[in-house]
Amino acid sequence: MGAYGQLIGENGLDELGLNLNDFADGLPGGFFIYEAYGDERILFANKQMASIFGCADVQEFLEHVGGSFTGVVYHEDLMRIEDSIWSQINSGDSSLPTHRDHVTYRIVDKGGSLHFMDEYGRLVKNTAFGDLFFVFVADTKPVASGSVSRGSADIRMHVSPDVDPLTGLHSMRYYHNHTAEFLARAAAENTQMVDVFFDVDHFKTVNYRLGYDAGDEVLQHIASILEERFSDGLLARFSDDHFVLVAPRKGIEERLEEVHDRVARLISHMPIEIKAGIYPLDKNDVSIAFAHDRAKVACNSIKGRFDYCYRFYDESLSVNEDMRDYVIGHIEEAVQKGWIRNYYQPVVRVVSKLCCSMEALSRWKDPELGTLAPSQYVQYLEDARLIHLLDRAVVERACSDLKTSLRRFGHAVPISLNFSPNGLSLLDVPELVGSTVDAYDLPHDLVHVEITESSLTEDPELLRSVIQRLHKRDFAVWMDDFGSGYSSLNLLKDYDFDVLKIDMEFLRGMEGNEKSRTIVRSISNLAHRLGMLTLVEGVESKGQFEFLRDVGADMAQGFLFSAPVPYDVIINDFFLRYPPERIY
Ligand code: C2E
Ligand code: MG
Ligand code: MG
Repeated sequence: MGAYGQLIGENGLDELGLNLNDFADGLPGGFFIYEAYGDERILFANKQMASIFGCADVQEFLEHVGGSFTGVVYHEDLMRIEDSIWSQINSGDSSLPTHRDHVTYRIVDKGGSLHFMDEYGRLVKNTAFGDLFFVFVADTKPVASGSVSRGSADIRMHVSPDVDPLTGLHSMRYYHNHTAEFLARAAAENTQMVDVFFDVDHFKTVNYRLGYDAGDEVLQHIASILEERFSDGLLARFSDDHFVLVAPRKGIEERLEEVHDRVARLISHMPIEIKAGIYPLDKNDVSIAFAHDRAKVACNSIKGRFDYCYRFYDESLSVNEDMRDYVIGHIEEAVQKGWIRNYYQPVVRVVSKLCCSMEALSRWKDPELGTLAPSQYVQYLEDARLIHLLDRAVVERACSDLKTSLRRFGHAVPISLNFSPNGLSLLDVPELVGSTVDAYDLPHDLVHVEITESSLTEDPELLRSVIQRLHKRDFAVWMDDFGSGYSSLNLLKDYDFDVLKIDMEFLRGMEGNEKSRTIVRSISNLAHRLGMLTLVEGVESKGQFEFLRDVGADMAQGFLFSAPVPYDVIINDFFLRYPPERIY
């Protein structure tokens, strides 16, 4: 016993005459426990939780939030919070008992007022209920947004459902209820109108790099720029970084360009790209919901493109839309019925011309539409947050092909697998790859993971932890499409990649362009100095291959050697020309 003694002995709280409920109710803040997975059911809450939510007792609180953590958080903050909690939890060393998170989000109390809540959570293993989150709520602050009307003298502000509490713009509800009347006035004045949908590219990056408070401020600035530029329109924020507008058609292009340029300059070291999709409201029979959907489709079609800041909807997009609906509606069936096939594109070692690995590239063999290329479904699955269904099927098939090869031929070359940026948050990639490879009893160096450069800007913390955890399990991690984004070199210092796959765009016109040659040569040298190997993809000519040998690139992949083909073709044909490097 130390100098200050031990206040409570073996009988713990009993000695203070307290049971656990008394103890929890005596804490200086809210405390609750919920299931980490599934419905995120709340299993316990103390009285303070009830009073934070303006409820008479815990029972009333549970009814108010629907008995689940998802009902605790204000709906607009939920996705961001869940992402943040899991990325904080996963970034810790999994062998240590310190799975903690700290997040701030908004809640709506029983009286409809909005508050900020600061919570500290910890993931705790529990044999009876599985993993649980123990959460302590330290304090609450009222939401203070200049444009929100005050409900009473109380510092708490009552939020009207017609007002977006963060920006003070109109809410989705207001927009739906008032657009028809607004358009009727425009029609009476013979003004042609358009519906515009705005989205900020990679807004998550702003939150991760600058913090959520700064992210909120950026949204408020964007709202004021839009409000100022479209004072003659009907403007609303729908959710996160999505704004909608109904405004006069005349001069819309110039106004959108101006908004784009002003938003791009909001933060000096970090250009923010706001994109707009436009649907002209010149057909009387079109409902506003229809127009809104089309504007959104137009906006999504230019996401991540630096050569467009707005796009009008046109019929070529409607074909894509049918395709998108088909893909989203049939992905489960496609996986179940084996329509998803793995093709493989071999990789050749430059010095030896032996086949040193192959990349799994999926193909969708549709019974009605024929063979679909990834460009016809990957993006749609990513947008619908369904890409993990595809990725899981491809991992499974790759492992099964490796096993078959080992059994039948006694050899196999490693396979690299692609994971989309948002696949990393939808799937526990290290766990999936690890458990599937183990289930097939394969050596871990037979599987590599490719992560595209664009995922580096999506969620840096999550990515760092995914790479760490893959390395812990002895899987090599390759950076795919290096050079296709705009921040590549800077990012190399922050992540440990084993191989740099240089984007084929670098090779376009290389033979006649001295600058491209210098770039490939320098990148190759740089990668080697940083302890990485280089693979150049998209090699189509002998001249390009000779050049790669010249600059010391390690591996090459491209149509010069083979297009992606079924596994059997690799085994029966490709290996005859380019024998496998490693024999297992
Ligand atoms: P990627 O991973 O960068 O794959 C390389 C793409 O370039 C492949 O297109 C390949 O066929 C093509 N390619 C290879 N060599 C050459 C060449 O010499 N010249 C030209 N012009 N093209 C070449 P593919 O198979 O259509 O795949 C496109 C993208 O779709 C892939 O890019 C990958 O990011 C994604 N993808 C494919 N399968 C999957 C999958 O199962 N899951 C996920 N998440 N993404 C996938
Ligand atoms: Mg790839
Ligand atoms: Mg690539």
